[in-house]
Amino acid sequence: MRIGSDSWKYLLISAAAKLGIAVDSSQAEQFALYANELILWNRKINLTSVTAPDEIALKHFVDSLAPLQFIPSAVRILDIGSGAGFPGIPMKILTPSLDMTLVDASRKRVSFQLNVIRILRLPQIKALHIRAEDLAHKAERQSCFDVIITRAVTSITHSIKLARPLLAANGTLIMLKGRAQTVRGEIQKYLNDLPQSAAPEALYPQIEKIYALPYLGDERTIVCCRNNGS
Ligand code: SAM
Repeated sequence: MRIGSDSWKYLLISAAAKLGIAVDSSQAEQFALYANELILWNRKINLTSVTAPDEIALKHFVDSLAPLQFIPSAVRILDIGSGAGFPGIPMKILTPSLDMTLVDASRKRVSFQLNVIRILRLPQIKALHIRAEDLAHKAERQSCFDVIITRAVTSITHSIKLARPLLAANGTLIMLKGRAQTVRGEIQKYLNDLPQSAAPEALYPQIEKIYALPYLGDERTIVCCRNNGS
């Protein structure tokens, strides 16, 4: 299967539809441009081990779109550890009104993100070469994001630690994880380690959705934490 072919676009569109997400043909064209850049840059810098055209469509693009149902269309959103742009750039392709910030600790990966943003002419999206813990030290960024999202970056405990100072009051942290059984163990460990004194302003992770990646069947779990405090 060739990237950008009719069968590749059909795979992408039909898999997204199985998750209740509508991808139109011009968005599918944008995904094809993105996938071609991913393959090209991946020869020079390590972006992903997923390189088969069908797997890029399903494991990177469709998987990145799955949390859209939990995200209002015009919020300030931060993708921590975005790597090759996942999930932030696919979400932005589908929902242009999102005010998107991508951060990553790797300069080369951020260069790739900036290249994709330029080629796809995406508005209202920044890619910053900075660690999340350093971003949290910048006063103007504290408590400023309505939604923070992470995929394949770190544990639930560490994700919450990174996101907490950056999350707005009433904001939501969304973590895209693998098998539910493993996730339940991570949540239990986080709750066990929570000091009693921190309980009032602590974030409490909850499993929002368990689903199978269309056509592949791999189990995925979406975990959310709402910030009900300040
Ligand atoms: N989210 C992408 C995905 O799902 O394909 C990338 C996952 S990759 C395994 C993890 C990325 O997180 C790497 O690009 C790494 O540089 C970045 N990262 C790890 N810790 C970070 C931190 N504290 N702040 C910012 N980026 C971080």
